[in-house]
Amino acid sequence: MNFWIILLIALGCATAVGASATRGEAKPNIIIIYADDLGYGDLGCYGHPSIRTPNLDRMAAEGMRFTDFYSAGEVCTPSRAALLTGRYPIRSGMCHNQFRVLRSKSKGGLPKEEVTLAELLRDRGYRTGMIGKWHLGHLPEHLPPQHGFDFYLGLPFSNDMMPTAEAPKGRAKFFAEKNEYWETPLLLGTRVLEAKPDQRTLTRRYTDEAVKFIRMNQKAPFFLYLAHTFPHVPLFASDQFHGRSPAGLYGDVVEELDWSIGQVLDQVRKSGLSGRTLVIFSSDNGPWLTYEHHGGSAGPLREGKGSTWEGGMRVPGIAWWPGRIPSGRIQREVGLTLDLFPTVAKLAGAPLSKTVLDGVDMSPLLFGTGTVNREPFLYYRGSTLYAARMGPWKAHFISQSAWGSDKPVFHDPPLLFHLGLDPGEKWNCAGTNAVVLAQIQAVVEKHRAGLVPVPTQLVETVGH
Ligand code: MG
Repeated sequence: MNFWIILLIALGCATAVGASATRGEAKPNIIIIYADDLGYGDLGCYGHPSIRTPNLDRMAAEGMRFTDFYSAGEVCTPSRAALLTGRYPIRSGMCHNQFRVLRSKSKGGLPKEEVTLAELLRDRGYRTGMIGKWHLGHLPEHLPPQHGFDFYLGLPFSNDMMPTAEAPKGRAKFFAEKNEYWETPLLLGTRVLEAKPDQRTLTRRYTDEAVKFIRMNQKAPFFLYLAHTFPHVPLFASDQFHGRSPAGLYGDVVEELDWSIGQVLDQVRKSGLSGRTLVIFSSDNGPWLTYEHHGGSAGPLREGKGSTWEGGMRVPGIAWWPGRIPSGRIQREVGLTLDLFPTVAKLAGAPLSKTVLDGVDMSPLLFGTGTVNREPFLYYRGSTLYAARMGPWKAHFISQSAWGSDKPVFHDPPLLFHLGLDPGEKWNCAGTNAVVLAQIQAVVEKHRAGLVPVPTQLVETVGH
């Protein structure tokens, strides 16, 4: 073969590699931004009348906004376990009917046998960083560095879990806007960086770290999991945002989060990475309605955080990847945080183990190339299955308000709602749709029969 033929072949290969990279087929960077207790109706692009979210609105306009995107947990700990493992929390023991989440004295955490997205991607050569609220076990053996993250800075659990001795009893401390009432520590890796960080600075500090992480890792593929502490109560915003929103303090906090997303996307653009970075924005559960004006809005959906009504688990879901995800698309198919694990694995070329996964590769939805076949989505409250969605139909086997003292109500036959006609779940139509109900019940029975019992991680405590 003469020199010119070899050169032409080499150039051809280089062009093919270049074209493949520009089409995003090289390993893409993955950024997941997770808000805490942000409701379905809390963003401008989801219809909020007074909270201003220009950066998330722009992200949606440049990418895809899901109308029916779900977290697989109704509260913090289970939803985060599901996000990182692609599995219903009942499979990992990260749920419990009474305790519901890990607490500041909990002994448990995400079992080491569970494979996280960070481990999957680190094995594929990714740099992995986590910034923000973890809530999957705060003892050293459970923290992000033990679950595949090269870098970690953040709070080990919710910002309300360690009130100080001087904080008033009951709900008053939540509305007092006093940082001195709270002492949830800020960790760097597995050590305490600050025992009592100023919560007004958290959104800004997380953002600065996220921007730095992107800048420092722009040459290698990276996975960044940015899990904001807010708008979980107690609410705090920095001076730059405090008192600015027409929607009060809750609006200030969400508008600062929106600023944060703008900073992250700007850094992706500045680093020249927008053509090979998938960014997902979502929330771990619905709004905490019992905190009144310090809680958010589920928009037209019923109930909020803690419940298996739509407002508890249907959350904002925005996906952004210029050049790959069609811009300005509204996606009305169901999407799940459970889908992120198999989707990202596919994009990174990572093989899946035999572990049961509950989501599907949602690339056809994201890239506008088709639909996906999925099993009905199951709504768990703690370790009990309350409801299931198949297509537009949702059956409730049990219902209960989110936080009240009411007991669960068992429904036989189940309640049935058509979420297309009735997103607020007002009109039970079980009487005329027996076939649909039977189909949903059959799938639920199959799921139950396939569950392998594991011990819950949420009960045992350390110390007193
Ligand atoms: Mg939450």
